[in-house]
Amino acid sequence: MVKFQKYEEKLSKYFQRLSEIKFKDKLKRLVFRIGIYHQNEFELIAELPKQFIFPCHLGVLFCGDFKDTLFDTIKMNLNLIFDSFFYDFRNLGDFTFSKEIFNKGVKNKFKMTENNERIGLHPTNKFYQILINKKKGENIDMILAITNLPIYSSSEDNIFFLFGETHLRHQCSIVSTLSLKENFYNRQDNQDLFNERVIKETIHEIGHLVLGPEHCDNNLCVMRFSVNIEDIDKKSVYLCEKCEQKLEKKRINFNF
Ligand SMILES: [Zn+2]
Ligand SMILES: [Zn+2]
Repeated sequence: MVKFQKYEEKLSKYFQRLSEIKFKDKLKRLVFRIGIYHQNEFELIAELPKQFIFPCHLGVLFCGDFKDTLFDTIKMNLNLIFDSFFYDFRNLGDFTFSKEIFNKGVKNKFKMTENNERIGLHPTNKFYQILINKKKGENIDMILAITNLPIYSSSEDNIFFLFGETHLRHQCSIVSTLSLKENFYNRQDNQDLFNERVIKETIHEIGHLVLGPEHCDNNLCVMRFSVNIEDIDKKSVYLCEKCEQKLEKKRINFNF
């Protein structure tokens, strides 16, 4: 009888420990999910949007200090390249991250210049989440963020100081302007050159939204992949003939 009691005691202790472990495990998972445990974890919370349909509405959101004229410049150039693919380009104004979100997922990397300055880069998923929510709230089909914050890809961990990225399934694009500025390379700032680079990268990312993920191998085509700033300067703001034809095919497919 005594033996049996002891056994029962042991068993209840064992179950208590087991429930404690389960609780700890649950807590760990919860903490992981809300993103405290793993600094770089930033999963998107969103339902998938409906299928691509052209023509559609495109919104532009700004994160950073930009000249008021930048939106008109972007609008004019997107119209020039993609004309009837978009009903309109809507200026959605500025946004800033809340203080706690701002620091989330930031990775410090060296700039690779003479003074080896360290810069905090932000994960692209952080922007996509803002864009997905905004797109839904504003009832627009596609959205582009222009930010002066440096970014790294949430899906490709080894790509830092990205010029831009597009999330095709969620129909969102980001262009990061920090490394499009001449002073990033310790050279005298040049506003015209900066504008030209922003236009090229904007057209490139919107080009992905319209034409798909492929890059073009034509040196002058805006859809060519740019590894560095020199590559951006070498290409034009235009689509090559082959990409123009792809655009035309899309137009015929969507019957407009
Ligand atoms: Zn690209
Ligand atoms: Zn091309």
